[in-house]
Amino acid sequence: MKKILYPGSFDPIHNGHLDIARRASKLFDEFVFVVAVHPTKKPLFTKKERIKLIQDSTSHFKNVSVLYTEKLIVDLAKEHGAVALIRGLRHVSDFELEFQMAMMNYHLSPEVTTILMMPEEKHIHLNSNLVKEIARLHGDIEGFVPPPVYKHLKSKFD
Ligand code: ADP
Repeated sequence: MKKILYPGSFDPIHNGHLDIARRASKLFDEFVFVVAVHPTKKPLFTKKERIKLIQDSTSHFKNVSVLYTEKLIVDLAKEHGAVALIRGLRHVSDFELEFQMAMMNYHLSPEVTTILMMPEEKHIHLNSNLVKEIARLHGDIEGFVPPPVYKHLKSKFD
Protein backbone atom coordinates (compact mmCIF):
# COMPACT_ATOMS: atom_id res chain seq x y z
CA MET A 1 0.00 0.00 0.00
CA LYS A 2 1.58 3.27 -1.12
CA LYS A 3 0.43 6.23 0.96
CA ILE A 4 1.02 9.93 0.26
CA LEU A 5 0.42 12.87 2.63
CA TYR A 6 -0.69 16.33 1.50
CA PRO A 7 0.09 18.78 4.32
CA GLY A 8 -1.23 22.35 4.45
CA SER A 9 -3.44 24.80 6.30
CA PHE A 10 -6.51 24.21 4.10
CA ASP A 11 -8.18 27.31 5.55
CA PRO A 12 -10.35 26.47 3.65
CA ILE A 13 -9.82 23.78 1.00
CA HIS A 14 -10.32 25.15 -2.54
CA ASN A 15 -10.39 23.83 -6.11
CA GLY A 16 -6.59 24.08 -6.50
CA HIS A 17 -6.11 21.70 -3.56
CA LEU A 18 -8.79 19.40 -4.98
CA ASP A 19 -7.07 19.33 -8.36
CA ILE A 20 -3.88 18.04 -6.68
CA ALA A 21 -5.91 15.44 -4.74
CA ARG A 22 -7.82 14.30 -7.83
CA ARG A 23 -4.65 13.66 -9.82
CA ALA A 24 -2.29 12.41 -7.10
CA SER A 25 -4.88 10.06 -5.57
CA LYS A 26 -4.80 8.13 -8.85
CA LEU A 27 -1.06 7.52 -8.44
CA PHE A 28 -1.16 6.20 -4.86
CA ASP A 29 -3.27 3.68 -2.93
CA GLU A 30 -4.03 6.17 -0.19
CA PHE A 31 -4.02 9.96 -0.31
CA VAL A 32 -4.21 11.79 3.03
CA PHE A 33 -4.87 15.50 3.57
CA VAL A 34 -2.99 16.66 6.65
CA VAL A 35 -4.37 19.74 8.35
CA ALA A 36 -1.23 21.10 9.96
CA VAL A 37 -0.48 23.94 12.35
CA HIS A 38 1.28 26.89 10.72
CA PRO A 39 3.47 28.98 13.09
CA THR A 40 2.40 32.37 11.68
CA LYS A 41 -0.98 31.87 10.00
CA LYS A 42 -4.08 32.71 12.05
CA PRO A 43 -6.81 30.51 10.58
CA LEU A 44 -10.37 31.69 9.93
CA PHE A 45 -11.77 28.17 10.27
CA THR A 46 -11.27 25.98 13.33
CA LYS A 47 -9.39 22.71 13.04
CA LYS A 48 -12.74 20.84 13.21
CA GLU A 49 -14.28 22.98 10.47
CA ARG A 50 -11.27 22.55 8.17
CA ILE A 51 -11.32 18.78 8.63
CA LYS A 52 -15.09 18.57 8.03
CA LEU A 53 -14.88 20.77 4.93
CA ILE A 54 -12.19 18.52 3.45
CA GLN A 55 -14.22 15.40 4.30
CA ASP A 56 -17.40 16.83 2.77
CA SER A 57 -15.55 18.03 -0.34
CA THR A 58 -13.75 14.73 -0.99
CA SER A 59 -16.43 12.17 -0.11
CA HIS A 60 -16.58 11.10 -3.78
CA PHE A 61 -12.94 9.90 -3.67
CA LYS A 62 -12.55 6.32 -2.45
CA ASN A 63 -8.95 6.54 -1.23
CA VAL A 64 -8.82 10.06 0.26
CA SER A 65 -8.88 10.76 4.00
CA VAL A 66 -7.96 13.54 6.46
CA LEU A 67 -5.69 13.80 9.49
CA TYR A 68 -4.80 16.65 11.84
CA THR A 69 -1.33 17.08 13.30
CA GLU A 70 0.81 19.33 15.43
CA LYS A 71 3.87 17.15 14.77
CA LEU A 72 6.70 17.38 12.24
CA ILE A 73 5.27 16.15 8.93
CA VAL A 74 8.11 13.68 8.29
CA ASP A 75 7.53 12.15 11.72
CA LEU A 76 3.84 11.81 10.93
CA ALA A 77 4.75 10.24 7.57
CA LYS A 78 6.94 7.65 9.28
CA GLU A 79 4.30 6.95 11.90
CA HIS A 80 1.68 6.33 9.20
CA GLY A 81 3.99 4.47 6.82
CA ALA A 82 3.67 7.14 4.11
CA VAL A 83 6.31 7.00 1.37
CA ALA A 84 5.78 10.50 0.00
CA LEU A 85 4.62 14.06 0.66
CA ILE A 86 3.01 16.20 -2.00
CA ARG A 87 2.94 19.98 -2.28
CA GLY A 88 1.53 22.28 -4.93
CA LEU A 89 3.65 24.57 -7.10
CA ARG A 90 1.74 27.52 -8.52
CA HIS A 91 4.34 30.11 -9.42
CA VAL A 92 8.09 30.41 -9.47
CA SER A 93 7.65 32.27 -6.16
CA ASP A 94 6.38 29.04 -4.53
CA PHE A 95 9.50 27.23 -5.65
CA GLU A 96 12.04 28.68 -3.24
CA LEU A 97 10.15 27.79 -0.07
CA GLU A 98 9.02 24.40 -1.39
CA PHE A 99 12.57 23.55 -2.48
CA GLN A 100 13.93 24.48 0.96
CA MET A 101 11.25 22.44 2.73
CA ALA A 102 11.78 19.44 0.45
CA MET A 103 15.55 19.52 1.09
CA MET A 104 15.09 19.88 4.85
CA ASN A 105 12.56 17.05 4.93
CA TYR A 106 14.97 14.92 2.91
CA HIS A 107 17.70 15.52 5.50
CA LEU A 108 15.31 14.72 8.34
CA SER A 109 13.93 11.63 6.68
CA PRO A 110 15.47 10.47 3.35
CA GLU A 111 12.96 7.63 2.98
CA VAL A 112 10.08 10.10 2.54
CA THR A 113 10.06 11.58 -0.98
CA THR A 114 8.63 15.04 -1.69
CA ILE A 115 6.64 15.45 -4.89
CA LEU A 116 5.85 18.93 -6.23
CA MET A 117 2.86 19.04 -8.55
CA MET A 118 1.64 21.91 -10.72
CA PRO A 119 -2.11 22.45 -10.75
CA GLU A 120 -4.17 22.83 -13.89
CA GLU A 121 -3.63 26.30 -15.33
CA LYS A 122 -7.07 27.55 -14.27
CA HIS A 123 -6.18 27.01 -10.58
CA ILE A 124 -2.80 28.74 -10.64
CA HIS A 125 -4.10 32.05 -9.26
CA LEU A 126 -6.02 30.41 -6.41
CA ASN A 127 -5.09 30.54 -2.75
CA SER A 128 -7.12 30.35 0.45
CA ASN A 129 -6.42 33.97 1.46
CA LEU A 130 -7.77 35.34 -1.82
CA VAL A 131 -10.87 33.16 -1.57
CA LYS A 132 -11.54 34.40 1.99
CA GLU A 133 -10.96 38.03 1.03
CA ILE A 134 -13.34 37.83 -1.95
CA ALA A 135 -15.98 36.10 0.21
CA ARG A 136 -15.59 38.72 2.95
CA LEU A 137 -16.32 41.44 0.39
CA HIS A 138 -19.30 39.45 -0.97
CA GLY A 139 -17.64 38.65 -4.31
CA ASP A 140 -18.49 35.50 -6.24
CA ILE A 141 -16.36 32.53 -5.15
CA GLU A 142 -18.53 29.78 -6.58
CA GLY A 143 -16.02 28.77 -9.28
CA PHE A 144 -13.10 28.62 -6.83
CA VAL A 145 -14.30 26.34 -4.05
CA PRO A 146 -16.27 23.09 -3.67
CA PRO A 147 -19.99 23.44 -2.71
CA PRO A 148 -19.56 22.72 1.07
CA VAL A 149 -16.96 25.51 1.34
CA TYR A 150 -19.11 27.87 -0.72
CA LYS A 151 -22.04 27.38 1.67
CA HIS A 152 -19.90 27.72 4.79
CA LEU A 153 -18.10 30.87 3.61
CA LYS A 154 -21.37 32.49 2.56
CA SER A 155 -22.92 31.84 5.96
CA LYS A 156 -19.79 33.16 7.70
CA PHE A 157 -19.84 36.50 5.89
CA ASP A 158 -23.60 37.06 5.35
P1 ADP B 1 -3.11 28.20 0.33
O1 ADP B 1 -1.79 28.60 -0.28
O2 ADP B 1 -4.23 28.16 -0.66
O3 ADP B 1 -3.43 28.97 1.58
P2 ADP B 1 -2.13 25.97 1.91
O4 ADP B 1 -1.23 26.89 2.61
O5 ADP B 1 -3.11 25.20 2.71
O6 ADP B 1 -2.98 26.69 0.77
O7 ADP B 1 -1.27 25.02 1.00
C1 ADP B 1 -1.25 23.64 1.04
C2 ADP B 1 -0.56 23.15 -0.20
O8 ADP B 1 -1.42 23.36 -1.30
C3 ADP B 1 0.73 23.91 -0.56
O9 ADP B 1 1.63 22.97 -1.10
C4 ADP B 1 0.31 24.86 -1.63
O10 ADP B 1 1.36 25.16 -2.52
C5 ADP B 1 -0.75 24.02 -2.33
N1 ADP B 1 -1.67 24.86 -3.07
C6 ADP B 1 -2.32 25.95 -2.63
N2 ADP B 1 -3.07 26.50 -3.60
C7 ADP B 1 -2.90 25.73 -4.71
C8 ADP B 1 -3.39 25.78 -6.03
N3 ADP B 1 -4.18 26.75 -6.45
N4 ADP B 1 -3.01 24.82 -6.87
C9 ADP B 1 -2.17 23.85 -6.45
N5 ADP B 1 -1.65 23.74 -5.23
C10 ADP B 1 -2.00 24.67 -4.35
